[in-house]
Amino acid sequence: MAKIAIIGGGIGGTAAAITLSKGGASVTIFEQNTKICKKLLATGNGRCNFSNADIDGKFYYDGLFDRINAKHAFFASDVNAAMYKDAESTSFNSGKSAHNRCDNPVVRFFRSVGVLEYVDEYGRIYPRTQSAATVRDALVYELNRLGVKVVTDCRIEAIAFEKNTAYPRGRANNPLGDGILDNHERRANSLFSLKHTFGDDVFDGVVIAVGSDAQARTNLYDLLPDKYFAPVVPALVPLQTKNSLKRLDGLRVKCKVSLLRSGELIYSECGEVQFRDFGLSGIAVFNCSSYIARDVENIDKYAISLDLFDDWSYVELQAALEERKRFSSVPSIYFNGLLAYGLADYIIGRFNIRKIESNEVCKILKSLDFSISGLRGLDCAQVAHGGIKSEFLSDELCIHGYEMLYACGEAVNVDGLCGGYNIHWAVLSGMTAGYALLRRISYDDNSVKKLK
Ligand SMILES: Cc1cc2nc3c(=O)[nH]c(=O)nc-3n(C[C@H](O)[C@H](O)[C@H](O)COP(=O)(O)OP(=O)(O)OC[C@H]3O[C@@H](n4cnc5c(N)ncnc54)[C@H](O)[C@@H]3O)c2cc1C
Repeated sequence: MAKIAIIGGGIGGTAAAITLSKGGASVTIFEQNTKICKKLLATGNGRCNFSNADIDGKFYYDGLFDRINAKHAFFASDVNAAMYKDAESTSFNSGKSAHNRCDNPVVRFFRSVGVLEYVDEYGRIYPRTQSAATVRDALVYELNRLGVKVVTDCRIEAIAFEKNTAYPRGRANNPLGDGILDNHERRANSLFSLKHTFGDDVFDGVVIAVGSDAQARTNLYDLLPDKYFAPVVPALVPLQTKNSLKRLDGLRVKCKVSLLRSGELIYSECGEVQFRDFGLSGIAVFNCSSYIARDVENIDKYAISLDLFDDWSYVELQAALEERKRFSSVPSIYFNGLLAYGLADYIIGRFNIRKIESNEVCKILKSLDFSISGLRGLDCAQVAHGGIKSEFLSDELCIHGYEMLYACGEAVNVDGLCGGYNIHWAVLSGMTAGYALLRRISYDDNSVKKLK
């Protein structure tokens, strides 16, 4: 039986392991933490927002998402590969329905391990239990049921690449063609030797699923030569503003958040902004940070503009502002009931408002601008931009130059917006790498399901 190692027991590595094991491979997960899927527990504020009803390449950095999505669809619809369907089997097949259900490959993956979904009013998909812990437990039960070996507290320090003679090139295109070697021969030509905390082990194939340094620690950059990597920048992260916002620290405001680059609109979203002493946070701000992360050398050109009355037109707001002058011409009394305390004081101070000019106040409330000075660090980022460059990956996530070496999840230079896009990517890419490896491993062993 082909021996496959998964480096990293996050959600991406676990999806790859389940797919490979269902296809008949002998799978070992190496995880440096005491338990697998630690990060998953923190996702969605403990509720695990694992996918979205609106999945599209435009929500991701880089075109790789579309390439992998297409490849996954090809694998999943391959009529000759019954095992692929098996890996995503589901007891019911709904479109988005009145019962808050939704259908996509990642939802089907979660159903196949016993987790049912719930779609909220924004299209974000969660487990029905609203609990990330139940998702992790379901994955652990499935790994146990399939006999996947999970080695915890064990870090892979290095991958030694041995000569690739066991898999003649032609076999990649023709899985049932010539070149099938017997087990003895394959062992003798094993491809990868993994150096880890407890020693060394030899495997026929490897999936690198080590995630990123966003609120975690990985040694991804020790596992491959430098040229394979795009530099790491925090993404989905709070933004530092040039002005200190100490007086507003902790205040939350619902508004429309727009990202401007040299005054030009790049992105906007309605949501809750959280003011922090260093700057701005909240989901809409995180999504803006994702655009800046791709252009970080020009960070000085970026500003965030808040429309505090996005549900009012300019004309409506100006008329209302003019009308409320009857309450008082003293700014603190005038703003009372219009803006939260801290925010009113901040605006009065920052714009030195002594006398109410409704036209000027209207401009401020419709576009309260903050120049951006930086991204906060990886220790407060939800994902990292960077990792294995897409140009070094095939459409099946095989790493160029190394047959039988694959990557998935955040280790790859793909990152998405908030809303379930990153877990969706980790699972989709884990399954795709798993399917691709199954097609590459030898079928000379009866315990491996045959492709028809
Ligand atoms: C606070 C927070 C909230 C989030 N919320 C959401 C959300 O609601 N929805 C969403 O879609 N995304 C969310 N994300 C992002 C999402 O969690 C990640 O994109 C996703 O977990 C990536 O999966 P992964 O398997 O690639 O990496 P990880 O989940 O990071 O798993 C990688 C694993 O590899 C292990 N590892 C690393 N190096 C080694 C090594 N050398 N040897 C052995 N093991 C190793 C790590 O310990 C880790 O367990 C959130 C992230 C954070 C930090």
